[in-house]
Amino acid sequence: MRYSQLFPKAKREAPKGAVTANHKLLVRAGFIDQLMAGSWTLLPMGWRVVTKINTIIREELDAIGCQEMLMPLMHPKEIWNETGRWESAAEVMYQLKDSRKKEFALSFTHEEIVMDLARKHVTSYRDLPLAVYHFSTKFRNETRPQGGILRGREFLMKDLYSLHASEADLVAFYEKVSEAYLQIFKRIGFDIYVTEAAGGVFTEGHTREFQVLAEVGEDTILIKPGTHEAYNKEIFAGEETKFEARRAIEVGNIFPFGDKKYAEKMGGYFRDKDGVKKLMHFASYGIGTTRVMGAVVEVYHDDKGIIWPESVAPYQVHLVTLENQEPGSRKQGEKVYTLLSGAGIEVLYDETQRSAGEKFADADLIGIPVRLVVSDKTRDRVEWKNRDEEGTEILEVDEVIRRLV
Ligand code: ATP
Ligand code: MG
Repeated sequence: MRYSQLFPKAKREAPKGAVTANHKLLVRAGFIDQLMAGSWTLLPMGWRVVTKINTIIREELDAIGCQEMLMPLMHPKEIWNETGRWESAAEVMYQLKDSRKKEFALSFTHEEIVMDLARKHVTSYRDLPLAVYHFSTKFRNETRPQGGILRGREFLMKDLYSLHASEADLVAFYEKVSEAYLQIFKRIGFDIYVTEAAGGVFTEGHTREFQVLAEVGEDTILIKPGTHEAYNKEIFAGEETKFEARRAIEVGNIFPFGDKKYAEKMGGYFRDKDGVKKLMHFASYGIGTTRVMGAVVEVYHDDKGIIWPESVAPYQVHLVTLENQEPGSRKQGEKVYTLLSGAGIEVLYDETQRSAGEKFADADLIGIPVRLVVSDKTRDRVEWKNRDEEGTEILEVDEVIRRLV
């Protein structure tokens, strides 16, 4: 991608009122744009990052047998009445009427929709277990959307739902998903605290949250010193003095419901081996993919800008040409761009006629892990600099390609 064509360009000024790093840096660097409180456009580079996050999630979930699909975002009132959540979750749910006075909700989650699919399509124990997921928009009437992209009224989530013939099978799969989540977050670059927590409008039972330590996090978790054992402050009943309180961002949450909360209320039955009618055991599992992007920035930045982990960076390298002295480096820049792109490497190529200072400041702000410079000094070679290190190296183009493919 040529920087001259990239939409939009990096900006010097942070948006007014921005306090969190993700808000300031993602807006300045051109990853996100705010339409209104809690509502964001993922600009081309922001969408590239979220797509990489989604790909990691998809790979790990498919590896444990989950199937991807896509469900509607506008739901009839009747389905929410079946579990009583039209009333009990009214505070968070956007409810609306069409011109014929029919009532709908905008999706804030999909348990009822999946249970409806299950009661229509699952008849026998042979159809179980079943695990389906989608990536889609969630709408939530958050009273204080804040912290940049960390809390939106409209945001992206991956939500997975699993159905089982027995509680034991549900518990075993719940652990499998928990492991897959750890793998996902490790690949993204997080040091995760698996935290015991409450279930909000989802369940009276306990749930498991996946928390990343960050000062701007809205949650407080209590950690047993020297370990990753953690409890959300909301449910903590122990001796607080023996635990360390830290601020954290919840990036994922998994909910074991069993057969009461949804299956019983909605008639989610199957027939077991002996032909006996039984309720399905149900669980759901969320990851806020846009919040994950914001949390990555909270963890990985410095005073100059973002420092993307390789796994979710919008591009692998940021190639910069400097041509203040001789016009030769432009030609060499085009050649390196063509060679790298031809080798399948994702390159952001700054070929603009701007000062080295401006170009380097943008490269640090955007935060692509590797900066390559072609200049009179490098001639037919390339200067390599890692975003998170000070030193540089002069390399042959072949060596650059070898390191990146
Ligand atoms: P919170 O406690 O932060 O309000 P929640 O517990 O209500 O979140 P869940 O229903 O558990 O959220 O949603 C699953 C995941 O979706 C969360 O772990 C989080 O990553 C993400 N998420 C939830 N609410 C928002 C939001 N308003 N904006 C962005 N992401 C969100
Ligand atoms: Mg939660």
